[in-house]
Amino acid sequence: MNKKYFEQIDRVIRKNLEQRGMDKVRLVGELERASRSLFESETVFIVTGFCIRDTLTGETDGPIGAISLASGLEQLGKKVVIITDEYSREMLFNCKMVKGVKGPIEVVPHKAAEYFCNHLINNYKPSHIVGVERPGRANDGCCYSMRGENLSDIVPNTDILFEKAKELCIRTIAVGDGGNEVGMGKVSSLVMNCVNKGEKICAAISSDYLIVAGVSNWGGHALVAGLSLLSDKILLHDRKTEIQLLKSMLEAGAVDGCTKKSTMTVDGLSLEENLEILESLRKIVKGRMRKDCVMAG
Ligand code: CA
Repeated sequence: MNKKYFEQIDRVIRKNLEQRGMDKVRLVGELERASRSLFESETVFIVTGFCIRDTLTGETDGPIGAISLASGLEQLGKKVVIITDEYSREMLFNCKMVKGVKGPIEVVPHKAAEYFCNHLINNYKPSHIVGVERPGRANDGCCYSMRGENLSDIVPNTDILFEKAKELCIRTIAVGDGGNEVGMGKVSSLVMNCVNKGEKICAAISSDYLIVAGVSNWGGHALVAGLSLLSDKILLHDRKTEIQLLKSMLEAGAVDGCTKKSTMTVDGLSLEENLEILESLRKIVKGRMRKDCVMAG
């Protein structure tokens, strides 16, 4: 019975995908499978933060979706650990405050990233690892922006978490919108053929479940909407909170990943366009709950 609601959510977050050729990627039922898997999780790593080379700060896409998901999971009693690099630490800290998320933020250093990631897994023993707009290493071992700039010298390698997850049977979920994010290896042939510079930038590593959204923040919200359907609770925040989140990101130095400017936009899309998506997701969840009430009545 939830299936049609998951399909509606998927349709909403696919808006804008054609801009980068990602509309060719269609993974039917993936959002529902990912949500169900997270619904059964215990401890979840959420890895996020995409550094913009020109400003050496994180961008506005990623952390909002990551913190939205962290909050949704915590409302269901799950443990959450947020993992990032130095460029997005302050932004995540601010977003955490806005949403009242309790889980710690762990900052992976550029040097000894592998040692640090192994330590995180041994220490927290996650059941799930979720990447939200996190740079992934391409086939050549480097990671790239959507424009094809090599970011490997500044971005610590967090693919290690996903590699280790495969060894240890930890479930992995990835959210992305451009093909260069960790987990996109699952659809590598499509990314290579359909996305500009796809062959160069496509992330090599795959994930168990992959959420492809027009903007990665929307993918994070979509998972929260999915968890809302499964738990019969509205876990998704309202537009006022979304505005506060974006404001708090800018205060910490975030820039729009497309325009590289410090504006109330995400991936070049206006605040209103982003709020519309959030509103649509909330409407779907609320619609389902109203229907339940009517049926129970
Ligand atoms: Ca993006």
